[in-house]
Amino acid sequence: MNITKKIKAMAKSYGADIVGIAPMSRFEGAPPQMDPRLIMPDAKSCIAVGFRVFRGSLRGIEEGTFFSNYSAMGYGGITYLYMPMTVINICKVIEDMGYEAFPMGHQSDWRAIDNEGNLKQKYSKPVAPGKPAPDIMVHLRLGAYVAGLGEIGFSKMLLTPEFGPALRVGLIFTELELDPDPIYNGPKLCNKCMACVNQCPGNCFSKTKTVKVTVAGHELEWSDLDMSGCDYAFRGGTKTEPGKKGFYYDGREDTKPGSHSPFLKKPNNLYNTGQAICGSRGCTRACIDSMEKRGVLTHKFKKPFKRSKPWSVDWSDYESLTGQNAAKTSAKETD
Ligand code: SF4
Ligand code: SF4
Repeated sequence: MNITKKIKAMAKSYGADIVGIAPMSRFEGAPPQMDPRLIMPDAKSCIAVGFRVFRGSLRGIEEGTFFSNYSAMGYGGITYLYMPMTVINICKVIEDMGYEAFPMGHQSDWRAIDNEGNLKQKYSKPVAPGKPAPDIMVHLRLGAYVAGLGEIGFSKMLLTPEFGPALRVGLIFTELELDPDPIYNGPKLCNKCMACVNQCPGNCFSKTKTVKVTVAGHELEWSDLDMSGCDYAFRGGTKTEPGKKGFYYDGREDTKPGSHSPFLKKPNNLYNTGQAICGSRGCTRACIDSMEKRGVLTHKFKKPFKRSKPWSVDWSDYESLTGQNAAKTSAKETD
């Protein structure tokens, strides 16, 4: 077995569901703040490993009865436990062969750019002229794209033929030269059905405004996503009406639960960032449904994903539940 096949087999034996390899030349044109070649100039290969999110982890959110599992086992647990262990173990084997390797997971908290790609103010400075400000952060989904794992959907999610958008990605950069995989050119996975757009609880996707980028010579296009809207909505919150108070997020008096959250206050994070109360209703759940109905997913289930009636929480009693009506009444009584 050649070394590329061995590394791929090893990655799967350590827990990866899918593996792809890109030569570093496919990062040509990446903005310096996102270019892994400026982290490891002698790197030859990027190994992308994908970890499925269990469709069953989303079942409790579909039913509206059990929200923690996706955040813990589908999101935080894979991101901060399972994936790092796998990519770390792969790096050990490569370094034992005499080639440098480093595992990359979700380390965005240290990156020098914000969600819009702008340099954070008063954060860090380049160590020498011509270098980007620390930290560079490689776009994990685009790393997976250039390694051939799938395509980028209108939602900006990586869509894979096996699991659709229900996947977490880790990358390994190494000086070991491996045989590359082609960029995905199988059956079209995103048909611009707009299910992600229509079912996103934060209305975060634009139907008409898109972002176009060229990655490894391929034109990619996705919806111009409102990241700050997603930041509110994916944790279950929404903004209160003008003049009204709410307490969904700590330290924010302008937040209340949206109709997609059953919680009066956002529950604690699970595994550091597990707080996906919306259960990725648009960008993952609606997309899985769309892809399954079109028969484009190779990983098959006996029963369809969408089975129960969509639910929506009625928060018309929010003020009384948070004691605001009582406070107003007693204020009137003492007037
Ligand atoms: S829901 Fe439809 S439009 Fe959105 S990414 Fe999936 S396939 Fe594409
Ligand atoms: S995570 Fe939720 S709020 Fe954010 S884009 Fe996806 S569906 Fe919309």
